[in-house]
Amino acid sequence: MKIRLTLILLTITLSVFSQADPTSTPTSTTEQSYQIPDLIEFFQSYTTPKQEIPIPNSSFLIPHSNKISLDSIPDSLYIACADYHPITTSQRITSRFGIRGARFHFGIDIGIPYGDTIRSPFSGTVRLATYQRGGYGRYVIITHDNGLESVMAHFSRTLVKEGQQIVAGQPVGLAGSTGRSTGSHLHLEFRLFGNQFNPEKLIDFNTFEINTQENGCYLMTIADTYSHRPQLEEMKRAAYHRVRSGETLSHIARRYGTSIRRLCALNGIKETSIIRIGQKIRYR
Ligand SMILES: [Zn+2]
Repeated sequence: MKIRLTLILLTITLSVFSQADPTSTPTSTTEQSYQIPDLIEFFQSYTTPKQEIPIPNSSFLIPHSNKISLDSIPDSLYIACADYHPITTSQRITSRFGIRGARFHFGIDIGIPYGDTIRSPFSGTVRLATYQRGGYGRYVIITHDNGLESVMAHFSRTLVKEGQQIVAGQPVGLAGSTGRSTGSHLHLEFRLFGNQFNPEKLIDFNTFEINTQENGCYLMTIADTYSHRPQLEEMKRAAYHRVRSGETLSHIARRYGTSIRRLCALNGIKETSIIRIGQKIRYR
């Protein structure tokens, strides 16, 4: 009985940890885990933002499904970007990072002609090269030597294998439209210990240059690089009502103790808008 309870608790703990990525949650048996004490020691030795953030060995590879809370990461870190190479020659950003309808878009989409080469921005190791139906399609996750991870998705073809070491600028895939996609494009994510941030903070996609501050390093401050945190918190608080037959905005407002005006603001609709049966109306 005691053992069983422990197991249940362990399962709960693990499932809390693994609800990482609302867009998709790929898992792989090749993912390695990390140890918290190691990590604390690791950060303690790099709290002065004068040093680059290195990933000294594989014990620091964070599985995609696990996240380290931003609160346990130092306020600022220098990310080594001297070896940076542009990912694509396309400047056509078709969807930006941030709230997209009722979901959060954890990366940017770049329109790239079908079959064009997509390259790794930094050196590193391919942690995952797999296929996800209805999501990322053919995609890779690269753990870079500078501590970042990049996710590149919707490839028509993947050119690298899991565990393969790659250099900056090396072709990793060909642009395509696999997975949840309506046209040939690259979905690009950057992550620090599982926490996605806007790739446009790091790279200027007009000039293809990296936004470096000092000695080829990008100064990552949690406050600026993760300025979208309040939006994410706001989204977590969101709750929805599914419209049933005969219901009006007035009914819904009364039911949840809110006003029609507030409902309209939350949903980007007008008081005179017609709501449909089955439509999701955000009330909080
Ligand atoms: Zn995308």
